[in-house]
Amino acid sequence: MEKQENRRVQRLVLVLFPLQGHTTPMLQLGSVLYSRGFAITIAHTRFNPPDPINHPQFDFLVSGTPNIEDVESINLNCQAPLQELELQKQTAYSQVAGVIHDSLMYFAATVANDNKIPSLVLRTSSAAFVQAYAALPHLLAEGSFLFQDSMSYEQVPQLNPLRFKDLPVSRENMALTLELIDIVSKYKRSSVMIINTTDCLEHLPLLQLQQLFQVPLFGIGPLSKVASASSTSFLEEESSCIAWLNNQTLKSVLYVSKGSLAMSDEKELTEIAWGLANSDQPFLWVVRPGSVSSSDWTELLPQGFREHVGERGLIVKWAPQKEVLAHFAVGGFWTHCGWNSVMESLSEGVPMISCPQFFDQKVNSRYITYIWKVGIELDGELERGDIERSIRKLMGGREGVEIRQRAIELKQMIDVSILEGGSTYNALNDLTEFLLTNKIPPN
Ligand code: UDP
Repeated sequence: MEKQENRRVQRLVLVLFPLQGHTTPMLQLGSVLYSRGFAITIAHTRFNPPDPINHPQFDFLVSGTPNIEDVESINLNCQAPLQELELQKQTAYSQVAGVIHDSLMYFAATVANDNKIPSLVLRTSSAAFVQAYAALPHLLAEGSFLFQDSMSYEQVPQLNPLRFKDLPVSRENMALTLELIDIVSKYKRSSVMIINTTDCLEHLPLLQLQQLFQVPLFGIGPLSKVASASSTSFLEEESSCIAWLNNQTLKSVLYVSKGSLAMSDEKELTEIAWGLANSDQPFLWVVRPGSVSSSDWTELLPQGFREHVGERGLIVKWAPQKEVLAHFAVGGFWTHCGWNSVMESLSEGVPMISCPQFFDQKVNSRYITYIWKVGIELDGELERGDIERSIRKLMGGREGVEIRQRAIELKQMIDVSILEGGSTYNALNDLTEFLLTNKIPPN
């Protein structure tokens, strides 16, 4: 496809953070804004670059070679190349109308500010998580969190419905959390917030965020639903699983995935394997290469598992997840509760078994099970008996029927939100207007 930037007067620079769960929604936002007439430049790192073949409409700018383990070094490393883009300079045909950056690429707000260009932050997580994260410094300063066991079921003051155990921090990652809070507080914040959620899912958290940050806020999700379908995966999608799904019966298959980051050890792999095997339910299981410690892929699966399961189960390295969740044969999603996965599941009305591990996943799980009531939680250390019972409950039990009904109703509400007059539809129009008329307040 011929690039159309010469005909596009307003250009937006989108700054990616190089992890799958961050890159996907930013690229989706890029295609939505492209369809609204903006020229799009994607600034990305050499690590985990997007594939330009999948996005011929965008321009790309390499903005650094980071050490992915260190968020501050990524920000320092990427600053100069973005600065060199001379954001303020107008070309013959287009001018930079704004910089939209991932919340972890906070340096971009400073660069934009130096160049007198509006900056907007894209939050790729839920509004409830952003709110909880913003409350952490206060909770920590107050000492209330430190005195609480991070497994406590006690309600967190002012963060209803979250309990201390749902907070995006635990004793193990406390140091990293404190470091991130400290780093982020040093940088200039963007004056506008775009968030990948929608009013029918998070009405209250969105209102509370608006009050908290006092900046224009646009809930334009689920981006997976409003953006065009081009692939954003870093790993190759095994499309052959769709042919396998085609041979399964309606809503019979449990799809199992822990996203792009979560890891397992051999013991957990064994429990999951026997839980799936003993449930007698067909399953499609994503085991990411390298996601089981001390192995390359599935070498540590227990003996006898494959024979026991036969054709009833399929294991892949990476699935075309959106297509899988939209497939007629998929009736449930055992998920780690990454926000993209949750939104993709909700958008297709697929009920969930939630199995959160860290950060925002625990907040998301609370909303899945307690607020929207579209899933059941598998809590604590995984054990084959619990897994088998949870699968049977979701896929076959009476409770499962009610959960599925609520998931379908929520999907219908999401569908309405993206149609003309819906909250996402309106927020996208408002955002476009904002960018075109340059009404963005200066930093
Ligand atoms: N995903 C995929 N195929 C897989 C597993 C995951 O395409 O086999 C995609 C999924 O659709 C989602 C993203 O990877 O868009 C994972 O993001 P999420 O926020 O759910 O979790 P994270 O990987 O950040 O923990």
